[in-house]
Amino acid sequence: MSNKIVLLPGDGIGNEVIYAAKDVLEAISEKYNTEFEFSSYDIGGIALENHGVPLPDETIQACKNADAVLLGAVGDPKWENHPSDLRPERGLLGIRKALDLYANLRPVKGFPKLLHASPLKEEVILGSDLLIVRELTGGLYFGQPSERRDNGNAVVDTLSYTKKEIERIVDKAFQSAQLRNKHLTSVDKANVLESSKLWREIVEEKKSEYPDVTVEHVLVDAAAMKLITNPTQFDVIVTENMFGDILSDEASVLTGSLGMLPSASLAENGVGLYEPAHGSAPDIAGKGIANPIAMILSAAMMLRFSFDKNEEAQAIEDAVEQVLNQDYHTADLKSENGTLVNTVEMTQLIVDAIKQG
Ligand code: NAD
Repeated sequence: MSNKIVLLPGDGIGNEVIYAAKDVLEAISEKYNTEFEFSSYDIGGIALENHGVPLPDETIQACKNADAVLLGAVGDPKWENHPSDLRPERGLLGIRKALDLYANLRPVKGFPKLLHASPLKEEVILGSDLLIVRELTGGLYFGQPSERRDNGNAVVDTLSYTKKEIERIVDKAFQSAQLRNKHLTSVDKANVLESSKLWREIVEEKKSEYPDVTVEHVLVDAAAMKLITNPTQFDVIVTENMFGDILSDEASVLTGSLGMLPSASLAENGVGLYEPAHGSAPDIAGKGIANPIAMILSAAMMLRFSFDKNEEAQAIEDAVEQVLNQDYHTADLKSENGTLVNTVEMTQLIVDAIKQG
């Protein structure tokens, strides 16, 4: 059976790392006799360039007809001062909405060989292994009205959620915790926000359905502090859209580089989208030095969640760890020892490790 994968390279280093993931999937295809069928479509700045919009209809249609979507990154400084509907990032919000991707899963794991690359003390991050489950379709980024008023002298954004939207993400987080260390931290701002009070009530209601999972509530400001002072206390964190956006970038410092963080965005029954947590990195785009590991680990998440191919996903994750253990690193991982490699070389090392594994 062929597995239809749509590639959305996007902009900047997205365009470089996505082909690393494709090479790795081709190695998996060869080794495990699985067929993948790839097709590529535009999103972000390149779509604005070629089609005048950040998310062309044909891209949406192709994604809806696929079994899974791999996205590089969007964002191009060229479009920075354009109106918000003509900015690359609008393509990303649009595809999440079009595919009803309500749950963003970001695993954050401190690889032993990379502890030195984090600005945090090694003893603080040693053993950290957490999963951030972020709500993706509601909250401030989508609430209406969102506008300037009174001739630009006032402004309003809207934070809105339905009970159903909160329930489904909370369920996903409880289920994720059941597959891990069975501890759920729900992050909110229930001392101030009405939306957070409802969020907390729903977590409390749901916990009787998951008696094997322990639950705690932490305010977002305290969570931000605990993430870098005592990250090993977390297993699964569940939170709303904007809090999740901020906390998951903060958590990236545990891994030493944004280039190490994969993510999965899941729909209730539809196609999943897999992308690195980083952006298009215009400062290094075109230099061939981007770390492809976040993208490659995103492809592993795709095999696990969309294609139920655990063995193949594990083979990719093992290959990445093996190459890191052999002291190969890309420039972002700032190792004093070991061998510095570029995007293509790192990809080839991982491909070779899969073939030999
Ligand atoms: P960024 O993630 O692109 O880069 C932040 C820093 O991390 C840069 O110094 C960059 O060189 C480095 N970096 C990121 N990924 C790396 C990798 N794989 N290997 C080595 N170094 C890496 O964030 P930014 O600079 O704030 O944003 C740049 C553009 O990307 C903006 O237009 C922004 O809107 C967009 N963006 C897109 C996404 C997405 O597509 N999901 C996410 C975040 C930002």
